[in-house]
Amino acid sequence: MCPLNLVIVGSGIGGVAAAWDAVRFIPDVKVKLIGDEDIYVRHKIRYVAHGLDISLDTSHLESNGVEIIRDRAVKIDRNKRSLQTERSGEIPYDYLILATGAEPSKPKAPGAEFTRGFRRKEDVEYLAREKPQEVAIIGASYVALHAAQTCKDLGLLPYVIVRSRLIRKSLEPELSEELERRLKERGVEFVHGKLQKIEEDGPIVDERKVRADLTISAIGVKPNSELAKDAGLELWWDNVKVDQQGRTSDPRIFAIGDVSNCYDPITKRIDYFGLGTIATIMAYNSINAIKGSKGALRTPRYQKDVFFKDVYVKSIGFTSPEAEKAGFTPKRKEIRGEEEIAYLVYDEPTGRVIGYSALSKGDTGYKDLLVLKAVLRGMKVSEVLEAIQS
Ligand SMILES: Cc1cc2nc3c(=O)[nH]c(=O)nc-3n(C[C@H](O)[C@H](O)[C@H](O)COP(=O)(O)OP(=O)(O)OC[C@H]3O[C@@H](n4cnc5c(N)ncnc54)[C@H](O)[C@@H]3O)c2cc1C
Repeated sequence: MCPLNLVIVGSGIGGVAAAWDAVRFIPDVKVKLIGDEDIYVRHKIRYVAHGLDISLDTSHLESNGVEIIRDRAVKIDRNKRSLQTERSGEIPYDYLILATGAEPSKPKAPGAEFTRGFRRKEDVEYLAREKPQEVAIIGASYVALHAAQTCKDLGLLPYVIVRSRLIRKSLEPELSEELERRLKERGVEFVHGKLQKIEEDGPIVDERKVRADLTISAIGVKPNSELAKDAGLELWWDNVKVDQQGRTSDPRIFAIGDVSNCYDPITKRIDYFGLGTIATIMAYNSINAIKGSKGALRTPRYQKDVFFKDVYVKSIGFTSPEAEKAGFTPKRKEIRGEEEIAYLVYDEPTGRVIGYSALSKGDTGYKDLLVLKAVLRGMKVSEVLEAIQS
């Protein structure tokens, strides 16, 4: 029997995970992993400011026969089942996985061309090399705070431009406020207001000019879905539309990670989270589907970060405002410890836990896993509180 030709486009966390799962789980497979940048751990880019090497060791892939090709894919020919690349010509496939990720979105305000993203290691190398003394960061997401922390680590002054509140989609309102207070104490400046425009020497927020040598846009991402779009694959907004196993509208093509939609196990609806945790789970699901297995693993939105060594921020599933928007009747239970403030969010009619967000001084990893399990299993708030307190 001929080996199965699996071609993966994109060597970010999703592509690398898919390549590794393929050689582990598909018996006779030939994997080509095509990527246009160095292979590294994206969520660790801020450590580049400390001179750390964040490259991902791929020797386990190569020693298991994965061919890593530094190239850019430009076109998919679905009839011929082949991928056109810039330098390596046409590459035939039996199955294709698109793991092309996403790029930072530009603000809609005039002057967006003056902004830079914060997604690639080159973005941190640029900060370290050019040392822009004052840096405006548009957006209040986890990524914006990574950028702010990187600036502080490099001795630069970050101004975070916030339209509503910090990490709005993942934190309860009180936690956003408390997080801002803690980060202010550690030297991050915040400017609240609506971005009007961006000039070469910084943005204008409401009526105020925020002077900056560099403006970073951290307002979200835009999926790299052009290959799929040009090949006529179905999209969901700008993302490649996939089923729960990651299969696109062409059963020979899968899409995983930031380029595709995902499924929220809480609402059981199609959604988009843009997280590495989701990309790795989707990689696993797509390889299982190619192998012929049914079913798919699922995970809710789950994020955990540490800023300035002692500001731990965690979030799972829904906040109460987001839960309300999604049609739940959310209630909260506050959990206060000496070192921690947390909120469990549950749906009142059923008592089912649907979210959690927390701010702490140290790691409370066991609690996150407990809540994660509770959310996935649909456990009741009373059961979760009992488990946490025991
Ligand atoms: C600062 C920061 C912190 C983060 N923190 C966390 C965190 O704590 N937890 C978490 O879960 N997630 C985190 N994330 C998000 C996480 O990094 C992304 O969700 C994850 O990288 C998505 O992986 P991916 O493989 O789908 O895409 P990507 O990592 O974007 O990789 C896609 C790759 O494909 C390449 N590519 C695109 N088009 C082509 C083409 N035509 N040909 C060849 N190659 C192509 C791209 O250049 C890129 O190398 C963070 C992100 C950032 C920026």
